[in-house]
Amino acid sequence: MTTASRNKIPATLIPGDGIGPEIVDVVERVFDALGSPYEWERRQAGLNALEQGGDLLPEATLDSIRRTGLALKGPLTTPVGGGFRSVNVRLREAFQLYANVRPARTIIPGGRYENIDLVLVRENLEGLYVGHEHYVPIDDDPHAVAMATGINTRAGSRRIAQFAFDYAVRNRRRKVTIVHKANVLKALTGLFLETARQVASGYEGRVEVDERIVDACAMQLVLNPWQFDVIVSTNLFGDILSDQIAGLVGGLGMAPGANIGDKAAIFEAVHGSAPDIAGQGKANPSALLLAGALMLDHSGLFNEAQRLRAAIDAVLATDSGRTHDLGGSVSTSAFGDLLTERLRG
Ligand code: NAD
Repeated sequence: MTTASRNKIPATLIPGDGIGPEIVDVVERVFDALGSPYEWERRQAGLNALEQGGDLLPEATLDSIRRTGLALKGPLTTPVGGGFRSVNVRLREAFQLYANVRPARTIIPGGRYENIDLVLVRENLEGLYVGHEHYVPIDDDPHAVAMATGINTRAGSRRIAQFAFDYAVRNRRRKVTIVHKANVLKALTGLFLETARQVASGYEGRVEVDERIVDACAMQLVLNPWQFDVIVSTNLFGDILSDQIAGLVGGLGMAPGANIGDKAAIFEAVHGSAPDIAGQGKANPSALLLAGALMLDHSGLFNEAQRLRAAIDAVLATDSGRTHDLGGSVSTSAFGDLLTERLRG
């Protein structure tokens, strides 16, 4: 069955801020060339939404995601100061997007590491990111002591570990490494480790299991990243390691992410809104396109996802197909043209 003969899938498209609209424009054109599998509902969020309607995360955007259960999101700028909570964190909480999946794969040969193919699964709702922080005043210093409370639950740890092992089975991955700091944070990450071990025992014979303390894992990712396959960790460790892993394959411009819950999934580039290059045609749309490929996988459109990844690989493999961040000179929009030409054959 071709995509043309199939009903289109409704999905929310959020252009976002900074370079967001430029790279989302490329995504729309490339998806058209793929056969338009999605019926996009364009909605706003971020600084542009605040400026136009007074709300960083308008109800119309939340409504759309509630309806479609599927969103592709450009980067959002959260204004510094003014007490604004990160829109990304609000979206994760609103849709209980408990799993953050960040695959990293070498696309451009000749970099520091060849043949990297890793997936980081990060717990997205708990840990030290719950934002329970306060200061304790002493004498005339109101900020004499700063405190943060991390919260990990058995249910949350079980859910993310199960997600990682199921992901490994579904994607024919050989191994899951559980990353923790249970030698020091004995309760907070000890609970995560204990629960993840219990979950792992249910996958014996199907997926290999391995454990690492987070600091050792960080070093080994630099010395020998090929020993890893799927890594599962708590929120803060997962956040740090996923950027480190992105660095193994050429940086944030190439890193896609998926935020997955039971009722909705939101796909995005790991990078931010890059205000320093916004509107200059210098943005690399690859990370958002690769996030689009993850969304196609999530929708079961594996052929389209594969076609898209193959086209991105092929364009990036040529010296004339690279944007400024990759040492090339092709503009954002011309990069989109190269991709659409390749896809239309
Ligand atoms: P950033 O990722 O936007 O930029 C860091 C550097 O990488 C900049 O030099 C930028 O030009 C470059 N860069 C990023 N994406 C690129 C791309 N696709 N192509 C080429 N170069 C690219 O990080 P920042 O400057 O720390 O943050 C800017 C804003 O983005 C902040 O308001 C921050 O809150 C927001 N942010 C949003 C998200 C998100 O929506 N998921 C994630 C991170 C940061």
